[in-house]
Amino acid sequence: MKVKPKKHLGQHFLKDISIAEDITLGLKDFHLYQEVLEIGPGMGVLTDFLINKPFQLSVIDIDKESIVYLNKKYKDIPIEIIEGDFLQIDWSLRRTKPFAIIGNFPYNISSQIFFKILDHKDLIPEVVCMLQKEVAERLCANEHSSDGGILNIFLQSFYDIEYLFTVQEHVFDPPPKVKSGVIRLRRNSTKQLDCDEVSFRKIVKIAFLMRRKTLRNSLKVIQLPSDVMELPIFNKRAEQLSVNDFVWITNIYTQNLANI
Ligand code: SAH
Repeated sequence: MKVKPKKHLGQHFLKDISIAEDITLGLKDFHLYQEVLEIGPGMGVLTDFLINKPFQLSVIDIDKESIVYLNKKYKDIPIEIIEGDFLQIDWSLRRTKPFAIIGNFPYNISSQIFFKILDHKDLIPEVVCMLQKEVAERLCANEHSSDGGILNIFLQSFYDIEYLFTVQEHVFDPPPKVKSGVIRLRRNSTKQLDCDEVSFRKIVKIAFLMRRKTLRNSLKVIQLPSDVMELPIFNKRAEQLSVNDFVWITNIYTQNLANI
């Protein structure tokens, strides 16, 4: 008996096992971790290529039917099968050692998954995942692309992100409406941003809330010195800025606050 695909859980089951294997081959940095967590195993198409590997494997799925299926399928295999919502778990309470994340993400919550990964970035050295192609491409877009977003700024601050390959619709059951992309994220050496992180988040958020405006307009509320505001960079919009540009603005902001 197969698991019946449920739309509200973003279930699109991958049928092509050679693609499943290729996705799992995306994990490379084994020297950095001994544990791997798979998000949304469904019927275990990726899981099949993750068992019997030199790491301890856990899988988490929110769907009861999948969990029943997986418990039967892997009853003699030493993996941890968790029934639960990846987003609701405080992973720092459950994990003390670094672990990698892999999964064909439920596309409707992929951004939330990344924000959660960022919460635990120092525990998660590597992520390999499939998501909507357009979103995957946007996350890999370099900093000067006009295709940025608030998540990009945060994610690219702490991870090097690389596009691995594209997956067509017809290899899924049911086929999604869009193409998919597989990406790899590797934690970079940035321990902390070169500025006050709370102010950084605040400024990036404000700038992206008013993404159509120039920074001169959107950042009026943070009251930077007027001569600074005359600089050409403030003619740009949020998505035209790099992480380093935002770090620079943040430092001006905090210095200015200190001088008031
Ligand atoms: N890996 C499988 C299934 C991918 S579909 C395959 O490639 O065929 C996405 C999976 O994520 C589904 O099994 C769905 O039940 C699960 N899922 C959806 N929301 C989740 C959440 N919040 N936490 C954990 N798993 C979730």
